Amino acid sequence: MEETTRKELAAWLEFYQELGIESFYRRDFSNAAPLAGHGKFKAPPAEMPVQKAPSPMPAMPARKSAASSVPAGPPVIAPPAVQTIRPPAPTFNLFEAAPAPLSGPETLEQIRQDLGDCRRCKLAPTRKTIVFGEGNSHAELMFIGEGPGADEDEQGLPFVGRAGKLLNRMMDAVGLKRADAYICNVVKCRPPGNRTPEKDEVDACSPFLYRQIESLKPRLICCLGAPAVRTVLGIKEGITKIRGRFYDFAGTKALATVHPAYVLRNPREEKILREDFEKIRDFLREAP
Ligand code: SF4
Repeated sequence: MEETTRKELAAWLEFYQELGIESFYRRDFSNAAPLAGHGKFKAPPAEMPVQKAPSPMPAMPARKSAASSVPAGPPVIAPPAVQTIRPPAPTFNLFEAAPAPLSGPETLEQIRQDLGDCRRCKLAPTRKTIVFGEGNSHAELMFIGEGPGADEDEQGLPFVGRAGKLLNRMMDAVGLKRADAYICNVVKCRPPGNRTPEKDEVDACSPFLYRQIESLKPRLICCLGAPAVRTVLGIKEGITKIRGRFYDFAGTKALATVHPAYVLRNPREEKILREDFEKIRDFLREAP
């Protein structure tokens, strides 16, 4: 076979593969008369499965079963199956988490109302209570944790268990008042066994967190632990490496620190939480 013919044939095969056609048949047309208008069309060598197409677009081919009714002529190629490519079905309803059009900023109450008796992710069946968030709706400081634990699930309030008590103690130690802050979590329902929230759960719940941030517009967000840092700041590095630093987030500042539960498990690390809380206090003392 000539090199040019081989290349053209390879190009046509590639073209048909892109269309999803992979099965071909060959007719012996060595004695067939050329079709009208295609007098220059040559029969391919016997070993070739398909022939050179007579025009840039292939002629409408006939199926093998109908070949006997096709007038003698150059061999034709099976018609391409019509393949409709559809986008994958969405895994969640975009409109469920979308805020209603508003003339001004949403209030936290409106966001809570929109959350409703949420069943948007697989944490819903095992939770007792949705823990939306608590605190001053005009807070300059917003704490974001990972998710509710058992005590929070019982009471419907964030950071009321042992980790919450440590958070309160740290705030007291640096002269901050819990009542002045706003506290919530990345996911609003307790993950079974206090496991880390999974990506699909974070994806389903985080739009409400972003709306809470947008409603509050705090001067400083304090991300408590790696899941909050990943969700809010998109940083995947270990929390002990990036803690104590300030980041810009959507026109406000954010600071990453360890989760109080981590300090409960590693009491010697309390000093780093204390250091970071001192930074929070110093930041808030500065004029905005
Ligand atoms: S974790 Fe969030 S998204 Fe999932 S059910 Fe609870 S409130 Fe809804």
